[in-house]
Amino acid sequence: MSGFQSIIGHEEVIEHLQNAIKTGKVSHSYIFTGEAGAGKKLLATTFAMTLQCEKKGIEPCMECDSCKKAVGKNHPDIIVLTHENQSSISIEEIREKVVGDISIKPYCSPYKIYIIPDAEKMTPQAQNALLKTIEEPPAYAVIILLTSNINELLPTIQSRCVKLNLKIIDNSLVKNYLMDKLHVPDYQAEVDASLAQGSIGRAQEAAESEDFARITENALKILKYAGKLGAFELAEALKNMVSDKQSIDDYLEIFQFWFRDVLMFKATQEIDNLVFKQEINYIKEQASEKSYETIEKILEALEKTKVRLHANVNLELALELLFLTIREK
Ligand SMILES: [Zn+2]
Repeated sequence: MSGFQSIIGHEEVIEHLQNAIKTGKVSHSYIFTGEAGAGKKLLATTFAMTLQCEKKGIEPCMECDSCKKAVGKNHPDIIVLTHENQSSISIEEIREKVVGDISIKPYCSPYKIYIIPDAEKMTPQAQNALLKTIEEPPAYAVIILLTSNINELLPTIQSRCVKLNLKIIDNSLVKNYLMDKLHVPDYQAEVDASLAQGSIGRAQEAAESEDFARITENALKILKYAGKLGAFELAEALKNMVSDKQSIDDYLEIFQFWFRDVLMFKATQEIDNLVFKQEINYIKEQASEKSYETIEKILEALEKTKVRLHANVNLELALELLFLTIREK
């Protein structure tokens, strides 16, 4: 992660946010809307990092303690909500993690920032609980709701937030940059660009990392042969993943892209928009073998595994459960 200047596109939104910082007119509540993959979380975390940066500029300096903590995802005053239940965010969760927590002053920074992904999943009760906080926030509080469906948010919430709309960035922009400037081969550039979701910084990091190339290779091996691997080979693959604890998020993201490809191909029979077009034979095979329901179930299981891992559950067990779902016929 590295600042606004490394994000491709979203010029107007970035200008708005930087201007708010410059003029001291940062709002207490924002809604970032946009489809999955538009870069909502990246922009929200970059904004949060900039607000907390000790240098107080309109870009995060990437060098101070605060920026380092933000990059390491362990900044005590940047709170990103995660939730195990995929279908809804309950009033209890909002009370515990936001409403009840927000009156405690920031630990070590000017702001206390809450980022709520999938905000449309808040129940109406949860939204009402949050509304009171949005109406009378402490001076240091900033709440950022991320949503792909703003219509699910109560009008009373919507009217009190600054709304910023993010459009999907064309992956080909990032991909071309990687191929032209860094001479990354076509298919690796496609994967790196998809993972980066519009951030040239993240794409570059992925492209320059030998680790990442190795992870992609290992992940693809697992994905292509998941249904056919024997117990021993699968255990071996799992062991590789577990020993790579730092990279587990990358693995899961590659898995997600893969099964979105399978789903997309099943629905459209089109190859052009797939991330892993070079593996079309395998995608095709899995698309015809698996039902829509099974693919959806796998995608849900992947989401769940991500949350579980961040809740520090047993890594091996979480992955085993995931593989059971992936291998299900
Ligand atoms: Zn800084």
